[in-house]
Amino acid sequence: MKAKFLFLTLFFVTFFCVFSNAQIISGIKVVSGKTDTVYRATHYVVGAVSPGSEVLINGTVVKQYKTGSFGIELKLVEGVNPIEIRVKNNKEDLLEKFSVYYKLQQPKPVISDTNSYHGMVVTTLPGAYLNYGAGEDRLGGAKINFISEGVNLAVIDSVNNLYKVRLSDSRYSYLPKEYAVKAPAGTKPPFSLTGSWSVSNSGKSDKVRISLDQRLPYTMTFELEPSRIVVDIHGAQCNSNWITQYLDLKSVEYVDFSQTESDVMRIVIKIKGNRCWGYSASYSGNALVIDVKHAPDPTLKGMTIGLDAGHGGSASGAVSPSGYKEKDLNLSMVYILKEELEKRGAKVVLSRKDDSDMNMTERKRIFKEAGIDMLISIHCNASGNPLVSGGTSTYYRHIEYRDLAKTILERLVKMDGGIKNFGLVGNFNFSLNSPTEYPSALVETLFMSSLPDEEKITDPQFRKAMMTEVAKGVEDYLKIVKKENKRLNR
Ligand SMILES: [Zn+2]
Repeated sequence: MKAKFLFLTLFFVTFFCVFSNAQIISGIKVVSGKTDTVYRATHYVVGAVSPGSEVLINGTVVKQYKTGSFGIELKLVEGVNPIEIRVKNNKEDLLEKFSVYYKLQQPKPVISDTNSYHGMVVTTLPGAYLNYGAGEDRLGGAKINFISEGVNLAVIDSVNNLYKVRLSDSRYSYLPKEYAVKAPAGTKPPFSLTGSWSVSNSGKSDKVRISLDQRLPYTMTFELEPSRIVVDIHGAQCNSNWITQYLDLKSVEYVDFSQTESDVMRIVIKIKGNRCWGYSASYSGNALVIDVKHAPDPTLKGMTIGLDAGHGGSASGAVSPSGYKEKDLNLSMVYILKEELEKRGAKVVLSRKDDSDMNMTERKRIFKEAGIDMLISIHCNASGNPLVSGGTSTYYRHIEYRDLAKTILERLVKMDGGIKNFGLVGNFNFSLNSPTEYPSALVETLFMSSLPDEEKITDPQFRKAMMTEVAKGVEDYLKIVKKENKRLNR
């Protein structure tokens, strides 16, 4: 009798496992949906009973799969939702009852104290930027970076035309008053937990997107070896546990973050390869989006180069002893350089095309809108001993674009007849070198104030020779990039 029972049991177990692909299930097994409190109206109940049963949830017959599993989507009402699972088969009649409480809003974590803020808060306007200090020089104080509009900042002090603003507990900065408006009284200093992230390829660039509750101030720097963009978000506390990184990224190798201070979250974006071809940060809604441009093919063929002739119109720039105006020489050189670059297959975008006034904002707008791959600004220098040559020099603002200024300078100082090397100048606060969106270099060709330099730069043949060398310097830069790419197998 015992043996017969065992045999029959074994037979049924084998039968169900082999022929109906089912587990032995006793009673009603509720796998999910038996939740105490939920915050979404759409609610799923999933369970399993012995195959071949009839399953009813709240009176509705639901499909049972061959495995014995069943499931239903319920629309909950606010408050208590009774759920009843009834199972009938030829052996038994089972009943399981529970209830789910649906709360409309998930309680937000308390992120700042409830005391009202009595200090002054300002909101940034388009074109705003942050300075390290209140110092001034000919071209303005040292800039950290541009900052998106609509960012609130707590004001600590006022220094001439600058607000001293608080970034985090341990850091402050300066914001020009012309780029800020007072926020309504009672506005609190910005603070946010960070939400989800994504890193995706948008076609021309890779975009790193970080969700925040509100727009927070940020500072951006670039580090070399390894090449990476470092963005500090001030007033941010990390609450991110989800970073979606797509596999078709072209300029971003990976992203990472750390909470460097209790209220500063640091984002690190590792660039693919060594070279950065441009990046920027801005807000889209309350999400901070860091845009990292894809590298173009390192050849002038098909590349778009921006050229800027300094000064123009009522702004003459330097005037030479015999009366030549810098603005005219600059424009003449820009047209020569345009021809040289076009001859090599590049597309050229000019800021001013004739002798007209043009401010820096307008020049930058033209280049950003054209989506240039690189910018060269042409100027002439002045000052110093008029009887000796001042020489030539090139300038960059951001370390990641240093090599472009360097390769141009190296070509210029090797010109026939020799040109004095006035130097490669870094961290130079020239407005057109400040955008991070593209590599840029400023060429201060020769000194208008120096008699020997004046003689050279006013000679059209010399200007032609000099601009040919600038074009070759750009080519040298691209060759370096190409070599690196080859080494890195890119
Ligand atoms: Zn100038």
